[in-house]
Amino acid sequence: MLDTFAIDIQPTATSRLAELDPANMEFGKLFADHMLTVEFTDGEWQQPRIVPYGPLTISPANSALHYGQAIFEGAKAYRQADGSVALFRPLDNWRRLNASAERMAMPTVPEDIFLQGLRELVKLDAGWVPDTAGSSLYLRPFMFATDGFLGVRPSEKYHFGIITCPVAAFFTKPVRVRFEQKYVRAAPGGAGYAKNAGNYGAAMLPSKLAQQEGYHQLLWTDASEHQYVEESGAMNVMFVIDGVIITPALSTSILDGITRRSVLELARDWGLPVEERRVSSREVVAAIQEGRLTEAFGVGTAATIAPIATIGYEGHNYDLPALLDDAFARRVGAALEAIRTGHAADPHGWMVAV
Ligand code: PMP
Repeated sequence: MLDTFAIDIQPTATSRLAELDPANMEFGKLFADHMLTVEFTDGEWQQPRIVPYGPLTISPANSALHYGQAIFEGAKAYRQADGSVALFRPLDNWRRLNASAERMAMPTVPEDIFLQGLRELVKLDAGWVPDTAGSSLYLRPFMFATDGFLGVRPSEKYHFGIITCPVAAFFTKPVRVRFEQKYVRAAPGGAGYAKNAGNYGAAMLPSKLAQQEGYHQLLWTDASEHQYVEESGAMNVMFVIDGVIITPALSTSILDGITRRSVLELARDWGLPVEERRVSSREVVAAIQEGRLTEAFGVGTAATIAPIATIGYEGHNYDLPALLDDAFARRVGAALEAIRTGHAADPHGWMVAV
C-alpha cells in the first residue's frame, strides 16, 4: 500500500471547456477535461494519476463485464458564494464506496486516494463547476474488476476512477409513482445497500414497464410481502403524515442515502418529529384518503428533493395535495442548497474545500 504519494498529473493540451454551454447542460453527456485513474495490482493500489478524459482499454474477458464486480458513487461539487469550490460530504461517499466494495469482494480504496484524488481532480477542472442556481459538478467515482479471466472468483486486478460532469438544477415536476408488487429491487441479505452496477441493470425492466403505464418511477416494496415501502426509483423516500416525517428504516435492501441522512439531520436540528421505521403501502394509501398525508418525496443526490404528485396502488391512482410553499420538502431542499453553496452556515461540517 502507498504510504504517502503525490498524484501524477498529466494536464490536457486541448481543453474542451469551450463546448460547455451553462444554459444547456444535459446530465452525464459532456465530461470535464480530466479523470482520475488508479490500478490495483499485486495486492495494492498503484500510483494515482490524473489524465485527460478518454477511453479505457479492457480485455474482452474482463470479469466485471461477465460477473458484475462493478460499483460506483455519486456526489457533487458546488460553486461557493465566494467563488471557490467545495465538495458535499465526500467522506460519506468514500465510506459507502468501501461498504459496496466489501459486499462485492473488491478491495477498499484508502481515504487519501479517494479524497486527495477527488480534490485535485476538481481543483484542476474547477472551470467546469457551473455557478448558475442549483447547478453543480457531478462526481462519479467507480471501481471495476479488470482480470481478463473467465473463472468465477473475485478478480485480482481492479480499476478505480473518477469522472465528472457539469449538471444543471434538476427541476422535476412532481412525479407519478406506483407501488411495485411483482418485481423486487433488493432482498434481505442481498446487495441492495451497495451501489453495485447490477442493482441498476435489474431495475431497468420494471421501471420501463411502469413508464409504459404512465408513471415516472416505482415505489419499490419489500421482497417477501411486497407491502413495505423501500425506495422510490434510485432515491430514498419520505412521507409527512400527521406532521411526522416518516422514512423506511435502513436495512440490507435499502441504500443508505447521503441526502436522506442530511434531510433527517436537518429535520432533527429543527426539532421536527422524525420516524425511521417500516411504512406499508396500506398506511400510505389510508393516510392519503384520510387527508393526513401532506407530503411525499424522493431524496437523492441527482434531484435533492423530488416531490410525488400521484401514487398508484393496486390499479388505483391516488393524488396527493399540492405542496404548500412552507412544506418541509421545500424548506429542507432550500436549506441544503444554501449550505452547499456557502450561502448559509454549515453547522455539521459537511462541506470540504478543494
Ligand atoms: N437509493 C438508490 C438506489 C440510489 O441509487 C441513490 C443514489 N445514490 C439513492 C437512494 C440516494 O442516495 P444519495 O442521497 O446518496 O444520492
